[in-house]
Amino acid sequence: MNKIPYGRQNITDEDIQAVVEVLKSDMLTQGPTIKKFEDHFADYIGAKYAVAVSNGTAALHISVLALGIKPGDKVITTPITFVASANCVKYCGGDVVFADIDPETYLLDINKVRELVESSPKGTYKGIIPVDFAGRANDLEEFRKLADEYDMWILEDSCHSPGGFFVDSDGKNQNCGNGNFADLAVFSFHPVKHIACGEGGMITTNDEELYKELNRLRSHGITKFDDVYLNSIEFANGGNSGETQYPGWYMEMQNLGYNYRLTDFQAALGLSQLNRADEGLVKRRAIAQTYLAAFQNQPFIKGQSGVIEGHAYHLYVIEVENRLELYEYLRTKDILAQIHYIPAHLMPYYKQFGWKEGDMPHAENYYKNCISLPMYPTLLKEELDFVINTIKEFYSKDLNV
Ligand SMILES: *Cc1c(COP(=O)(O)O)cnc(C)c1O
Repeated sequence: MNKIPYGRQNITDEDIQAVVEVLKSDMLTQGPTIKKFEDHFADYIGAKYAVAVSNGTAALHISVLALGIKPGDKVITTPITFVASANCVKYCGGDVVFADIDPETYLLDINKVRELVESSPKGTYKGIIPVDFAGRANDLEEFRKLADEYDMWILEDSCHSPGGFFVDSDGKNQNCGNGNFADLAVFSFHPVKHIACGEGGMITTNDEELYKELNRLRSHGITKFDDVYLNSIEFANGGNSGETQYPGWYMEMQNLGYNYRLTDFQAALGLSQLNRADEGLVKRRAIAQTYLAAFQNQPFIKGQSGVIEGHAYHLYVIEVENRLELYEYLRTKDILAQIHYIPAHLMPYYKQFGWKEGDMPHAENYYKNCISLPMYPTLLKEELDFVINTIKEFYSKDLNV
């Protein structure tokens, strides 16, 4: 049997064909495939607008910029995430304030967030970055109420959860990133995520102003004449020189942006992958069902992702006894389980700001026990059975010693 990783991409002949077509076309970047990918992605998620960028981290960076972050601004996020969720705040000179997770859901605990904002003068915290960790959607209706009360923005890190949803108080499914609650949501198209572009990212929103600002920040802060003309008659009649500008070449750099563009051949891959996104979710949910049934009531299990409506299952996490020994034993069988995540507040970089062991007891306890099992649509039935049997075998040995 081949090595079984915790996650991997699935590239089909159609995917390859789609990329080749763009490679043979006139536009490798800034062409029509980007817009098509954005439109289809926005439709899939149920948001009004989508902006494609070069990766999920770039998506986070220009999102916090568009939301108006300033040096010294405090933003709250979870320690159980990929560090990029926090780093975007630091890129802009902001302060990251971690709040502990709920030990049942592994998500940012809204009660901990509430304690923070209620114990400080209004305006202390500018925003919240909830992360749909492992693919489980945050209840953003609750976060929105709190954010509105304290004038905070919400940036949803949905890198794990395209296709995921939570059920709102009216019983309606609310897709991750649909723009009904969060101001902005970000996605990643790293190969280990649901949709692969190699590198790639997307931001979704229902806010037209934020959408325009993100478009500028993605590409050097440059506004084309068309946009200027449509948005500012005053400018069209004046411009820098006080004369009407020729619309052919005219563009204007209005703020300091970046080159965070996605290429068109990456967009072609993403678009082709997007066609199979629902199929992939069905597979992921079936694998989760199998894990849940196999591990329910097993004495070595301290917790698991379980089967939750709307879970997108980027990861399937279990919490176990003797995690390190299990991790090593699985490696000897070519099962490459992983640990997600070392709590961000315990990274040497964040420790220099005063964060230390003991600050986030639930996150730290989770980290001691967690292990992410293989979870991807092309995982074969016999591979899945092998993973489950190997884990059970490990613990039956353990108990006999
Ligand atoms: C993958 C990921 C990112 C960053 O995405 P990249 O495309 O790798 O830059 C951000 N947040 C979370 C939760 C992620 O899993």
